[in-house]
Amino acid sequence: MMKTMLQPTLNTLYAPVMPLGRNADSSLTKKQDVLNGIRASRIVLILVCIHGTFADSNEDAKPLYYEGPESGDTNNIYLTHSCIHDEILHQRRRTGRKEYSVTPQVYVGTSSEDHHRGRTLLSLPEEVQTQSSAKQPIRIYLNYDAVGHSPDRDCQKVGDIVKLGEPPISSIPGVPFCNPHAYPAVVGDCWYNCTSDDIAGDDKKQRLRKALGHTVQWFKKALAVEPVKGNLRLSGYSACGQDGGVQLPHEYVEEGVKDADLVLLVTTRPTTGNTLAWAVACERDQWGRAIAGHVNVAPRHLTAEAETLLSATLIHEVMHVLGFDPHAFAHFRDERKRRRGQVTVQSMDEKLGRMVTRVVLPRVIMHSRHHYGAYSENFTGLELEDGGGRGTSGSHWEKRLLMNEIMTGSVDTRSVVSKMTLALLEDSGWYQANYSMAEGLEWGRNQGTEFVTSPCSLWRGAYRCNSTQLSGCTYNREAEGYCPIVSYSGDLPKWAQYFPQPNKGKSKM
Ligand SMILES: [Zn+2]
Repeated sequence: MMKTMLQPTLNTLYAPVMPLGRNADSSLTKKQDVLNGIRASRIVLILVCIHGTFADSNEDAKPLYYEGPESGDTNNIYLTHSCIHDEILHQRRRTGRKEYSVTPQVYVGTSSEDHHRGRTLLSLPEEVQTQSSAKQPIRIYLNYDAVGHSPDRDCQKVGDIVKLGEPPISSIPGVPFCNPHAYPAVVGDCWYNCTSDDIAGDDKKQRLRKALGHTVQWFKKALAVEPVKGNLRLSGYSACGQDGGVQLPHEYVEEGVKDADLVLLVTTRPTTGNTLAWAVACERDQWGRAIAGHVNVAPRHLTAEAETLLSATLIHEVMHVLGFDPHAFAHFRDERKRRRGQVTVQSMDEKLGRMVTRVVLPRVIMHSRHHYGAYSENFTGLELEDGGGRGTSGSHWEKRLLMNEIMTGSVDTRSVVSKMTLALLEDSGWYQANYSMAEGLEWGRNQGTEFVTSPCSLWRGAYRCNSTQLSGCTYNREAEGYCPIVSYSGDLPKWAQYFPQPNKGKSKM
């Protein structure tokens, strides 16, 4: 997994946090306002070519110096959110847990026969469905019933010991313990010792509702979906989600959910490190579209300071539920609702020297070509980050190519939603995207096919730097930056070596 991140200088640490809008309408443009505001202010961005990227997969290679948050400081304001979606999927596969259940829905233009054939439709090549109906803004329904109601996983008072993952019951209570400041974030089975920061009090609950409310409004503008006819039906067959999940309320199963295309069950359980939140889909309709999901937001990060970062983080995490997920890729459909033959292609890339997974969806390719100015036939698809091991399909765009795009593995306050991400969701066949909701991505713009197909050691001009420099211009000459090259105590993996010295590369943070 490539975890290359921009190096913010001190100025970025204190980026102004814009206030949220006072009403729903003004809040819709909040993120854009915030991002514009941040761009307009003299924020120093480090946008150097990542010359020698650090690989998380190499456990032996530790940076000689390290700029992570100090352990023991409970008031860290993290600059980035590290997503653990790939690790969650990996964990679910490992435990052999059912990834999701299928509950067919009735749609306008769907016959009741199709409805009963739902399960078959998911597993077998289906008849071409020609009827389509107008898509409407997506209705995401938020359920907070589970907030504070899983005693073994929610922090209710200081000193509570709660579960993260599935820790073993050992003879010594609370062992193995979780390191709340683990950096980078780890997904582990451990016992978590609750502090006051981990308790979802009224103020934190209010922030949570406000932030998720904005997320729902954002998606309502960004995506349209074939509306469910009548109530959304859910099976509630098993607990929805991760880490024990959440049991669906009885009435949702018996009566369904009114005016909803997707239900998100919200929890506020602790996480470690700079993982602000995580989310997974847990029920799908007969076409594979997510109809229920579990979203967890850590109370520790429900602070006024983290508001802007949380806003970007929640858009990122809900994107995973909606379709930016290898499980969802398997159900992607074309305009006629036929299952797509190819969503991603994996191949050994000689130029990059490693296995590469590329998204080959038509709209993604079209918007990528346009963004990078990559019109050569050598451009075959947009790279995904590997999913925790080289060659497996991951759930993020490759950082080297998309840098501050919202669907790379780390999110920060400068993250933008590009047309390429909206295109991926539209190529699922489930949604229609409103491309006016996309924000400008500067990274890689008009750099040509070479940029997309080459390792960054072959990049040109301001995209590369060879030695640590305290000051310089960023790739787009809009800001001041520096070049964070460091020496590691161990050698980097072969594919991450760009210098004569095998232990030299970009700083991890
Ligand atoms: Zn993610």
